[in-house]
Amino acid sequence: MTESDIQILQKEIDAVIEKYNREDFINQDFEVYSKSFKETYFQNQNLHTNKRVCEVIGCKNITIKKSHTIPKSSILKNIVFEGHLLTPKFDSSDNHPKNIMSKIGINNASVFPGFCTKHEDIFKSFEIDGKIDNVNKALLQTFRTLCRERVYRENELEINKIIREKYKKKINSEAQESITKALSKYPQFENVKDIELKGIDSIIDSLSKLDSFLISPLEQIKIFETSIYSALLKLPTKDKLIIRVANFDTHLPVSICGIGNQVYLKDKVETDSYLLLNVMPRKDSTSVICVGLERDKLLIQNYIDSSFSNPLFLLNMIESFMVNGSDHWFVNPKFWETLSEVKQKKILYDILFTEDSHLDEYPISIFDDVRMYIISTLKKNINTRTEKITEFEKEIIDKEIKKIKSADYEIITDTNILAEKLWNRLQKH
Ligand SMILES: [Zn+2]
Repeated sequence: MTESDIQILQKEIDAVIEKYNREDFINQDFEVYSKSFKETYFQNQNLHTNKRVCEVIGCKNITIKKSHTIPKSSILKNIVFEGHLLTPKFDSSDNHPKNIMSKIGINNASVFPGFCTKHEDIFKSFEIDGKIDNVNKALLQTFRTLCRERVYRENELEINKIIREKYKKKINSEAQESITKALSKYPQFENVKDIELKGIDSIIDSLSKLDSFLISPLEQIKIFETSIYSALLKLPTKDKLIIRVANFDTHLPVSICGIGNQVYLKDKVETDSYLLLNVMPRKDSTSVICVGLERDKLLIQNYIDSSFSNPLFLLNMIESFMVNGSDHWFVNPKFWETLSEVKQKKILYDILFTEDSHLDEYPISIFDDVRMYIISTLKKNINTRTEKITEFEKEIIDKEIKKIKSADYEIITDTNILAEKLWNRLQKH
């Protein structure tokens, strides 16, 4: 190749790189890209139900396709309406970022390819009556929560990888087309066969951020898993667990099985703390399991102790977790219908745009009836005892009643502000 040929080539390559850096390629256009992103995302959803290797350490068996994280017959059946439940979901069909309630059949609610037929059996002990009345059962249920969360994230990462590869391929082929066209003016150059751009544009950058959002809890999830294994097998472990189980004497129309995250300063270092919550409604009672790590006790011990000291605080914990903790929960469609439309909208909005953590109190009452029931039971108990109602008790009851009456359902509608909120949330992890 002559010196001048090299110069021509260099010039055209620079022009393509510049075009890429200016994000002028068709595939870098946000609308073109988001269409392709959604397509690939939905085409690959089957990864979430493809069989894998069993999650139990040492087991090499292939899983069944759908393990329920929340027991179907003893728990989910108690909140089902005409075979369906509702769960919050991001509305990907709309250009305005929002959450909707999505209808899901009981056979698909909370399922993931987790365990082989043999190991599905280890959960049988409480699947029959759904009763969590000892620590072992609580640990088994929590273990299943962890496995689902990890498998979900691993599959989402895999889908992300497919999206990224597809995007890169499109960009490279656009670059190739562009160079071929530019060089066609010069007869001495044949068609360019292969080109690979290695830069980082805003799309690659946001995909990487999405990756780290999915990856960041995995390390801690592993610590939890090891600790639970050790606790179940009564082996010593350096990471002890904080485990609390409580039983409401009333039915809650929701089942939760998720992980909440809060970053805090521990010895001046930003540390992730995770809390696992399971809410398991039966016909006339509800079990609540909360598990955290003792290494985070500075942050969570008081919160957990206080939440489990009073049914109203426990209800607050559950409601905040639904909005600020995890969106992996299911409600009875009949119950959801009883909420006013503005309240439904506000709850779904808060789930998506919250800047609070699950440790903060949610100022809106989701379960008015349950809250009223607890308040009236508390009042009854106070009235039948000898000592009078304390200031503290009075304050709590007043605050909870105020929550039921409140109708402050303000939401922001400016798409730019909302997009920024979402972006901030993604980067917080
Ligand atoms: Zn197995």
